[in-house]
Amino acid sequence: MGLVAARQKWLVLKFGGTSVSRRDRWDTIGRMAVERGAAEGARVLVVVSAMSGVTNELQAICDGDDAVARVAALAHRHRVFCEELALDPEQALGQRLAELEGLLRDPRAAGRALAWQAEVLAQGELLSSSIGAAYLCSQGLDFGWCDARDWLQAGHVPNRTESALRLSVHPRREIEPGFNDRFTQHPRAFVLTQGFIARHDDGGTAVFGRGGSDTSAACFGALLGAVRVEIWTDVPGMFSANPREVPDARLLTRLDYAEAQEIATTGAKVLHPRSIGPCRRAGVPMMILDTSRPELPGTRIDATAAAIPGVKAISRRDGVVLVSMESIGMWQQVGFLADIFELFKRHGLSVDLIGSSETNVTISLDPADNLVTSNVLEALATDLAKVCRVKVIAPCTGITLVGRGMRSLLHRLSDVWATFGRERVHLISQSSNDLNLTFVIDEADADGLLPLLHAELIASGAMPVMDSDVFGPSWREIEYGRPQRREPWWIGQREDLLARAETGTPRYVYHLETVRERARDMLATDAVDRCFFAIKANPHPAILRTVTDEGLGLECVSLGELEHVFATLPELPASRVLFTPSFAPRREYEAALARGVTVTLDNIEALQRWPEVFRGRTIWLRLDLGRGDGHHEKVRTGGAAAKFGLPLARFDAFLAHAHALDIRISGLHAHLGSGIEDPRHWREVYAHLAGLADTAGDVDTIDIGGGMPIPYTPDAQDFDLAVWRAGLDEIKAAFPRYALVVEPGRYLVAEAGVLLLSVTQVVEKDGVHRIGCDGGMNVMMRPALYDAWHGIHNISRPGDTSTTAFEIVGPICETGDVLGRKRLLSSATAEDDVILVADTGAYGMTMANTYNLRALPAEDIIE
Ligand SMILES: *Cc1c(COP(=O)(O)O)cnc(C)c1O
Repeated sequence: MGLVAARQKWLVLKFGGTSVSRRDRWDTIGRMAVERGAAEGARVLVVVSAMSGVTNELQAICDGDDAVARVAALAHRHRVFCEELALDPEQALGQRLAELEGLLRDPRAAGRALAWQAEVLAQGELLSSSIGAAYLCSQGLDFGWCDARDWLQAGHVPNRTESALRLSVHPRREIEPGFNDRFTQHPRAFVLTQGFIARHDDGGTAVFGRGGSDTSAACFGALLGAVRVEIWTDVPGMFSANPREVPDARLLTRLDYAEAQEIATTGAKVLHPRSIGPCRRAGVPMMILDTSRPELPGTRIDATAAAIPGVKAISRRDGVVLVSMESIGMWQQVGFLADIFELFKRHGLSVDLIGSSETNVTISLDPADNLVTSNVLEALATDLAKVCRVKVIAPCTGITLVGRGMRSLLHRLSDVWATFGRERVHLISQSSNDLNLTFVIDEADADGLLPLLHAELIASGAMPVMDSDVFGPSWREIEYGRPQRREPWWIGQREDLLARAETGTPRYVYHLETVRERARDMLATDAVDRCFFAIKANPHPAILRTVTDEGLGLECVSLGELEHVFATLPELPASRVLFTPSFAPRREYEAALARGVTVTLDNIEALQRWPEVFRGRTIWLRLDLGRGDGHHEKVRTGGAAAKFGLPLARFDAFLAHAHALDIRISGLHAHLGSGIEDPRHWREVYAHLAGLADTAGDVDTIDIGGGMPIPYTPDAQDFDLAVWRAGLDEIKAAFPRYALVVEPGRYLVAEAGVLLLSVTQVVEKDGVHRIGCDGGMNVMMRPALYDAWHGIHNISRPGDTSTTAFEIVGPICETGDVLGRKRLLSSATAEDDVILVADTGAYGMTMANTYNLRALPAEDIIE
């Protein structure tokens, strides 16, 4: 006990190349050391990399590439930097630079001995740390310097090449008793040392390989039993995906060592994977922090991170090579697999993933671990061909989901499976530690897939981004600020809503002013010639009147909707109504044509079966452009799996049939899904349809459908109408001949509606707290049907800050009768409180039903 108490507390800070190449950055290092050390009551060890680009130069010197000139240039660069720091170059670096120049004359240089190379490579860190220590002292800080090689030893790892044993060493695993005591004897308060370098067993220099400075910091942290190792870098931390590919990737604020190890190994380059082991074994927490944005939470890696099951990250690795081996009858033979793997070993290849079936074994070769050249592969294939049928599949991409409890998540991954289902998956591999799941597909299919998969992981709940212990802000939010969001109308109407709830729940309330605003948004560009409201989203008479008063037309998908429209608005001209049904009976087409509304057809069979219904008519044609999009598999209305639209391959055939029946096709239509996030989608649809219309003769109108999204979740952005409009303006200018039609449903009404429910019972069962309401999937189907997320608020207890995570359920006898999970609501929530379910103006009431013989909700209007 006494021994532990006597140990000095140390904090280890590591700074990379960009942090040591400028004067202001060195000021930051000094300030951080003082502040963070004081906050922890600890002494501070600072570990630094070489200045940016220096290690590359040293590598070139090792390779014998223009060595003399390069050494001179390096010496010059470091001298100039000394002057920038107001240091005397000779005093600060004279000896160091002499040593660097001396290495050129070293007898080992001729044969480029590995020990000599390690020494050359080590100079970058020795130079940067010497400059830094001199500069920080000159600023009045009590900084000392030490040679890391006096403290860190290279470890022993079997089966490694000579070169790896010198130039990419592993840290030594043994704990060294008394290390803290000895290191603490350093006379200065702060100590500066080098990353990357260590002492070889033979007394010479060894280096940890690229990214090795993280490893050095981790080793020092582990040996010192530090309170923490902080890796200061130029990114905010580890993300749930590579932000360059997925801007909505979330900062991971808390990970356990195993997860961090997995993420560092499979994707993120933020932290060297080898650096986690030492801290993990010593139980020292690590943090990744952003030097230019120290206020961000960063990523904390420690053993106390609650084991939250869920996908934490998704990553991709390109350049993967698969070797597929088909049995030729020897499979069952003893030792067969051993023989096969012996061949891989003989060709110096280490196998990464393995998938096997009765007659096939497929393995992957990771480019990071292997020197996979076509020569090596050819030689391997020749050897393997003697025992099995071989096929090399390359280039492939491995897409890996990382997170704890992957097995228990499989049922949530149905949309992810569906997305992969559209590609050819060569291999699926699940790690035995239940931390990762990897899919290998063709590299060509991988482009653009990650943002989609990331969105699906969130939508399905497999990636629990609402858990603020683990998920921080998105990269987009960090770069561009909080998402642009309008304040919901109901925030200021609590008293009014409570009074309405008094008159009975469940009850939908619609705010017409919001509907008007959204309608004006849609028409606020000259590019849009006409806008039709898809009434299936919400056919309430007051809403139909509101949108038609704003100049919109109405889009119907059934005869029932058509009759409802004309019963509500008898004066509405038929030209302002579209009829776009799906698999409707013949009499609905007859009735619609008799009414004079615009009818859209999407198959040839209707023309063949019912030629007399359509002969001589003018109609629109709905096309399937071969792909779908939207917030959920079930709302994608394009692509081979969807029942909607004429496939492009039959376009000419349809035109011929129509021509024979003297039918004029005046409009082309495509509606490919609902809740499509990308505002450029519609311009692409217009471009595609306009290209087709040019070949089709009589077309004067192009209808690019609806599907504009609204931000349901707190981290979603308002739909970027400016980008949407700009895209349409641009494409309209390219194809000005056609009238452009849009038909939004959700966008116009979703945010205008709220659902009011009353609490029936609050129950705890097996640790899960549930709030029961008087309406569930019977009044609001979207969560059960699409895993949709809606904001849920207890408006009877405003401002209550003591919250509990609740599951909000309805009164229906179905396990799926859940409106929301893990929602933080007032801990005091009780019977008769009023619960507001937000953004329920679209596909709410229209999907309500009387299941369990519960009454339909009431509806109110706020003018
Ligand atoms: C449902 C539907 C719409 C509206 O879709 P939203 O996602 O609500 O905008 C538009 N056009 C057609 C043909 C539809 O069936």
